[in-house]
Amino acid sequence: MCGIIGIENNENASILASAGLITLQHRGEESAGITISGMKKMKTFKSMGLVSKIFNEKILLNKLPGTAAIGHVRYTTSSKSSLINAQPFQINCIHGNISVAHNGNITNFLKIKKKLLRKGAIFNHTSDTEILLHLIAMSKGDLADVIMNSLRKLRGAFSLVILKDKTLIGARDENGFRPLVLGKMGNSYIIASESAAVEVIGGKYIRDIKPAEIIIIEDGQIKKSFLYKAVRKKQNTCIFEQVYFSRPDSIMFSKTVKEVRVKMGEYLAQQMNGVKADVVIPVPDTGYFAALGFSKQSNMVFENGFVRNHYVGRSFIKPSQCLRDLTAKLKLRPIKEVIKGKKIVLVDDSIVRGTTSKKIIDMLKNSGVRKIHFALSCPPIISSCYYGIDTPSKEHLIAAKYSVDDIKKYLDVDGLTFLNLDNLIKSCCINGESNVFCTACFTGKYPTKVLKDTREESY
Ligand code: AMP
Repeated sequence: MCGIIGIENNENASILASAGLITLQHRGEESAGITISGMKKMKTFKSMGLVSKIFNEKILLNKLPGTAAIGHVRYTTSSKSSLINAQPFQINCIHGNISVAHNGNITNFLKIKKKLLRKGAIFNHTSDTEILLHLIAMSKGDLADVIMNSLRKLRGAFSLVILKDKTLIGARDENGFRPLVLGKMGNSYIIASESAAVEVIGGKYIRDIKPAEIIIIEDGQIKKSFLYKAVRKKQNTCIFEQVYFSRPDSIMFSKTVKEVRVKMGEYLAQQMNGVKADVVIPVPDTGYFAALGFSKQSNMVFENGFVRNHYVGRSFIKPSQCLRDLTAKLKLRPIKEVIKGKKIVLVDDSIVRGTTSKKIIDMLKNSGVRKIHFALSCPPIISSCYYGIDTPSKEHLIAAKYSVDDIKKYLDVDGLTFLNLDNLIKSCCINGESNVFCTACFTGKYPTKVLKDTREESY
């Protein structure tokens, strides 16, 4: 998963891009990068690690002067996490210097890559985004034609920000899988994965970029906005963004993600009508708002039952088995006074592999909890995502292999309830419009053709 941002017509472009990336850090913690242009020659600075570690004042002010910038944060599965795949990707081609930052997963990239290889193209990266650079370099016409012709060849998920000189371009695939929003700050336009990034840097959210829309912005003006393809009948925006990925303060379909998560909790409580407990406890942080909704609907007391340590990063997780075992305990610690001797409803967003939940439940038991009913604010995840969420392959998804009853036994809880799909969709839908989401991870029904091996080299 990744986060992207672009800003134009602003002397502080690189500083604002880095602040936007910090706001989007939850979408990718492994590498970050910024391309700057508009003043001197286009330049890209990227590195592995967190945004705040990479972009200090010295780098932003001395190395990245300019008026237009795009930025990217990246999260991959371990083996493909390397600097070579860090974005933005900057190229020099017949159209000049162009830089691209991508969130999503191009599902037909292997097919296109093979064709390009046969024509003699050279690839430096292993990520799917690189094919877009080749398609851009080979396309003819003005900037709008070049981008349109290139995007028409792609399938799958792509939200993009592209920079050429001082022109900022935003684009979203025809399904609208990944979010992308337009914002304004004074005489500058901003494009970002989430509205929270626009607002944190001082901008105002205007609207979502539409599925299949290309928007070209220069000197604080929208020069052109058009659809590169006829609009599909059905939009397929990822529903898991609402469940887990996006920030609660971001706006999706005119509602904050927080509101939607509270609603999920309310429906969960309705599904569990009759279950009695002393206290409702969220798993921090993503279970928080669903637990709040649950408490509101059920009139059960809401309590914070954990202390979360915010200093445990992902990089700390990997090195050794000993550290891996310690990580869950370092990240979360139950507050004994809150849970001891109590019957609790524990609320989390999702179960993926089941390993985190198992550790959390074991910790609660060791701290003296009496009974646990585990409630999840989405249905069982039974299928991998091919559109940019890094769910593991099917054999590692606990709900793909085991029934709800077996998962309950494995977790050793007294009750286990998943929000059902109808209620999840009802929580998220806008103005009664429910047919706008991709729910493939819960149903196995993919809205596009997918080649199973695309997950190998993409993110
Ligand atoms: P587990 O069941 O051990 O795989 O962990 C599930 C937890 O990881 C969920 O409760 C989420 O908070 C979090 N999670 C869900 N999806 C993802 C993802 N794609 N990447 C990282 N963490 C995730």
